[in-house]
Amino acid sequence: MANPVAALTTVTTFPLKSVATIDPGRVLIVAPHPDDETLGCGGAIAMLRSRNESVQVLVVSDGTLSHPRSRKFPAPVLRALREQETLNALQILGVESATFLRLPDGSIEDHISTALDQVISYLQSTSPTTIFLPWRCDPHPDHRATWQLIHQALLTLSIAPRIIEYPIWDWDIEQRGSISTTVKVTGWRLDTATVQSLKQQAIEQYRSQTTDLINDDPDGFRLTPEMLSNFAQPWELFFEEIR
Ligand SMILES: [Zn+2]
Repeated sequence: MANPVAALTTVTTFPLKSVATIDPGRVLIVAPHPDDETLGCGGAIAMLRSRNESVQVLVVSDGTLSHPRSRKFPAPVLRALREQETLNALQILGVESATFLRLPDGSIEDHISTALDQVISYLQSTSPTTIFLPWRCDPHPDHRATWQLIHQALLTLSIAPRIIEYPIWDWDIEQRGSISTTVKVTGWRLDTATVQSLKQQAIEQYRSQTTDLINDDPDGFRLTPEMLSNFAQPWELFFEEIR
């Protein structure tokens, strides 16, 4: 079966659900990089918090690869900046804190085994009943490795929370559908219209990724207007494995 996200242009045919249909229990949002939680799930976070649901956020990498050559923002400074941007964004969405695992940006896959114990402890202490993970076939290797890291930890713990997966880099037309899978998934959209402007405000907190704030690295990363427009819809797209 081809990657189900390969035809992202048809996503508006996926069913639209209200947050009331989710009944999530304790929610954990897992982000490979500081900003993925807001881009992929910012609307869900705001809607869940408006219903007073418990939402925890785990950010896996330190995000320091976005501007590797900046002298004004060397890695420790960039890490602190991106973590503060995350906290600012989450505050707008109704979440007061986050946990930062600080694995090296760009090489999460190489650190799965060393981070596993820490992730297991984290899952034991937070005991989520619903986990939002990056889509397991996202074109970005850090996103796939993040899915693997949590998946392996859950196998060790022998617990099976509901897993809801969110695409990020499949939205990029150049990268879309580059990974194929035999996994059967169902796609649906969460109606986030009432929190659309809150989500936009939260995304704007990521000034290091969306503006010229860091202007001394010609190879620096920037979320393009085209990419950002994909996350400005009045809904968010999710996948769940059909078992
Ligand atoms: Zn990412």
